[in-house]
Amino acid sequence: MEVFDTVAGLKRYRDGLTGVVGVVPTMGFLHEGHLSLVRASLAGCDHTIVTIFVNPTQFGPGEDFDRYPRSTDRDLRLLDETGADAVFLPSSAEMYPPGTDTFVVPGTIADRLEGSARPGHFKGVATIVLKLLNLTRPSRAFFGQKDAQQLAVIRKMIADLDVPVEVTALPTVREADGLAMSSRNSYLTPSERAAAPALYRSLCLAESMYTGGERDPDEIKRRMAELLAAESLLEPEYISIADSVTLDELTFIDSPALVSLAVRLGRTRLIDNTPLPPSDY
Ligand code: AMP
Repeated sequence: MEVFDTVAGLKRYRDGLTGVVGVVPTMGFLHEGHLSLVRASLAGCDHTIVTIFVNPTQFGPGEDFDRYPRSTDRDLRLLDETGADAVFLPSSAEMYPPGTDTFVVPGTIADRLEGSARPGHFKGVATIVLKLLNLTRPSRAFFGQKDAQQLAVIRKMIADLDVPVEVTALPTVREADGLAMSSRNSYLTPSERAAAPALYRSLCLAESMYTGGERDPDEIKRRMAELLAAESLLEPEYISIADSVTLDELTFIDSPALVSLAVRLGRTRLIDNTPLPPSDY
């Protein structure tokens, strides 16, 4: 496995590649969710490049940039074992040399939900993803459904800016008790970890209400909030049922929808989501 920490090194490597290149952008501290994307790329592409970069521009002031978990040696070992061809792990200075002041500003899809809770977050995400796509020039890029709004913002950017890449989304990989795998789960204390599967249970409740014929988003959100309220450690930030493409909040569920939520558990902020109708994943 080749490892690069400079743009120049990555570009030289990329220039030598022919065939289908797949890229898997990550912030590291890898888990099975990330590795499922790497495996999908390996299965569908001739070369798989994984990027590991904790992108400062997508963190707001007071967010967890400084304490975001990092484990480079372990990540490299996992990627080597999984069969990735190359890893790009640049420094912040390498990605944002002094004087960098051009950014991608996503449209209205980035204003709501995570965008409203984390102003500027998706500007940072869209900018780094476009830079990584420009550097790796992949035919295919792999992202997780776990970050559904991020995926929607990236799809919109790729469509609006005519970026020549095909996006593949992969289902959320979960722990045995339903908690969506996330690097941030490592922040949880044992009691917070015990409370965290309530997010998944609330999504399952939404799915079963929908399957039972309920189409009123307010009623589903009310019952989800009730379920979450039973966990005293858990503070919901938002519960949303929105159109799955525009992320406009729905007043009646008559088109494919995304149920998503953000909660705080102590100092940790967790997000999760599920599509309606429930998918077969
Ligand atoms: P991150 O390192 O958290 O920025 O995530 C990198 C990529 O992995 C993104 O496309 C995420 O959506 C995806 N990802 C994160 N967690 C999961 C998960 N539990 N299942 C599937 N994909 C995930």
